[in-house]
Amino acid sequence: MSGLKREGDPAHRLDALRGTTPPRPHDARAIAALAANPGCARRALMDGAGLDKDAAARHLGFPAPFGQSPFAITRGNAFEALVKADGCAELLRMLRELLRLPVAEVAYHDVQNVGENTDARTGAHLRHAHTRSLIDRAARGEDDAGTLYDHPLLALTIAGHTAFLEPDVVAFQLGGRFHIVEIKSFAVIDGQAEPSAVAAAARQAAVYVLALRALLEELGHDPLRVSHDVVLVCPENFANRPAASLVDVRRQLAVLRRQLARMTTLDRLMAGLPEDLTFDLRPGEDGRPTRPVAELADAVRRTTARYAPECLSTCDLCFFCRDEARQEGASDLLGRQVRDELGGVASVAEALGLADGTRDPAEGQEEIARLLRNAERLRRECLGSV
Ligand code: SF4
Repeated sequence: MSGLKREGDPAHRLDALRGTTPPRPHDARAIAALAANPGCARRALMDGAGLDKDAAARHLGFPAPFGQSPFAITRGNAFEALVKADGCAELLRMLRELLRLPVAEVAYHDVQNVGENTDARTGAHLRHAHTRSLIDRAARGEDDAGTLYDHPLLALTIAGHTAFLEPDVVAFQLGGRFHIVEIKSFAVIDGQAEPSAVAAAARQAAVYVLALRALLEELGHDPLRVSHDVVLVCPENFANRPAASLVDVRRQLAVLRRQLARMTTLDRLMAGLPEDLTFDLRPGEDGRPTRPVAELADAVRRTTARYAPECLSTCDLCFFCRDEARQEGASDLLGRQVRDELGGVASVAEALGLADGTRDPAEGQEEIARLLRNAERLRRECLGSV
């Protein structure tokens, strides 16, 4: 593959949008969240360009409200190390029990160290190439292909562009059938775990299943050899002892596939932007952004956002976009359901004007205006003002 990019190429344009900082790799969490708001052009462009949205949000003065605490990260890393110790001995014990497979001995490959002495982009390509070769040999049933693959680097096409995934998972294969193993540090107590944590883990695992299936298909193998049952490994009952269970991610796969397919392609989104638009933070020698905040904010506002309250738990730019939506009085602030029901009514002021009759409906707004007027009449009746 040629690394040359020409002016006007979508890849060149995306690099220009990102500016001078290296691209930030996508992880499954980011892709699962990206699919959660497929209509947002701002996010699609920034993620497509590999921009560090967290750094941009902080420089804009709107730092994101989430992120794992250092304690949780340390705990998660320690648990993962425990599960993977001694060539994944503990993990193998669980897989034998859970999948009832005669796993006698295994060959373990850690792909993480491949290409570590190169720059990030070359290293990613090398790791992905190595992963491809291992998975291909495993699918062909070659004896030395291995059974466990730690940190395989997968790729997924998002909005027409390839994103590498930096998984912290193990892919397991036996007899040519693959399972994704997701290791999480939230506790399972008496067989029950926090439903939202399990749902988030399932969404992320579905991204890996999709990426591994895409790889098998690309290599000419049956993609359905990747099971829709993922292995979720969590600590059990307040102790650090790992326990494994199977989670069916078919529903998450269907949602993800549908939403990725619906995403507007980046090429079309970029066509409507000014040629010189960039989100560059212009980091100085100490790595701190030097770009004037107002200039960056202006650049970000030139892209179309689609704010929804769900952004508050999935996107680093949520406080910036919420502030923007408030200033515009956007009906998006009221949530997706209200926004969809309001159809083409973009602002709260417009909706209120249609409801109390001080504003005439534009073409196509007659039906929603009638419904809003009825709702306003009922509200007044309830309040006893008529
Ligand atoms: S926070 Fe902003 S950029 Fe992120 S998905 Fe929501 S609207 Fe889009």
